[in-house]
Amino acid sequence: MELIDGKKVANQIKQEITAEVEQIKKEGGKIPHLAAIIVGHDGASETYVGHKEKACNQVGFNSTVLRFEDDIAEDTLLRKVDELNKDTEIDGFIVQLPLPDHISEQKIIEAIDPKKDVDGFHPINLGRMVIGLPAYISATPAGIIELIKRYNIETSGRDVVVIGRSNIVGKPISILLGQKSDTGNATVTLTHSRTKNLKEVASKADIIIAALGQAEFLTADMVKEGATVIDVGITRVKSDKTKSGWKLLGDVKFDEVAEKAAYITPVPGGVGPMTIVSLLQNTLKASKGEIYPRL
Ligand code: NAD
Repeated sequence: MELIDGKKVANQIKQEITAEVEQIKKEGGKIPHLAAIIVGHDGASETYVGHKEKACNQVGFNSTVLRFEDDIAEDTLLRKVDELNKDTEIDGFIVQLPLPDHISEQKIIEAIDPKKDVDGFHPINLGRMVIGLPAYISATPAGIIELIKRYNIETSGRDVVVIGRSNIVGKPISILLGQKSDTGNATVTLTHSRTKNLKEVASKADIIIAALGQAEFLTADMVKEGATVIDVGITRVKSDKTKSGWKLLGDVKFDEVAEKAAYITPVPGGVGPMTIVSLLQNTLKASKGEIYPRL
């Protein structure tokens, strides 16, 4: 079994980005600038935004965090999004989800200028990705593809089972892996909560992407010998063994699946760190006008 070390790959990519930013600075170019909107005080959201801010600082990007109380009106938030759309200093921005119930997430996502939508959640970016046009690919699927690339995992002609059909992970990764590309050309089965005989389906797969959000759901009896297992799930559970009182579990029962898998990602330290560097990569692309011409 080989561990797919997302933390290590993410650090390598951060070094590559840092070198590029240093070069941009030397040439007097524009330093990439990522902004994040966070609404309310959700612990997980605060952690994610904190990680993103730290990662920006590490690679030399500028970063701005706009914080709002959870009683902010939808209209006001839409205006803030519009301000960021128009702010020529900001190359890309994200709105950290979830948002409070009185705000339509879809409305907010669709208000983001697709050219600045470095999370890749806007229907225009998703649509462009589906038909193979240049697009911001949402950070988690992009991170998974990068791991597959850097570990030279063959996807062409292989059977992939994706578990979970969310718009931000399951659906896009299933499309990317089926796409005609160096990290695609797989035969993909997208499974979900209504799938019958998931064990039978999963146990035939060469590659399993588990993205359903149920701790330790995927057990060894659902995995073929020699499969590649990518664990996207993050569930926080109480633990008396850690200082924080919490620990993170993936969707895969790691110890037993690791014995059968050829490649496996750990949680934490697998897909998570890749998600953050993909956001940095998208921001760099935005500042260079690689996907859409620079604004
Ligand atoms: P989600 O929570 O929106 O949806 C879960 C999906 O899993 C649904 O499509 C549902 O049909 C499917 N599902 C639920 N139970 C199932 C079952 N028993 N069998 C088969 N399918 C089932 O999905 P999400 O937002 O993609 O999140 C999934 C997990 O990934 C969560 O733990 C989340 O925290 C994690 N996540 C991690 C990262 C990262 O950077 N590592 C990024 C995004 C999400």
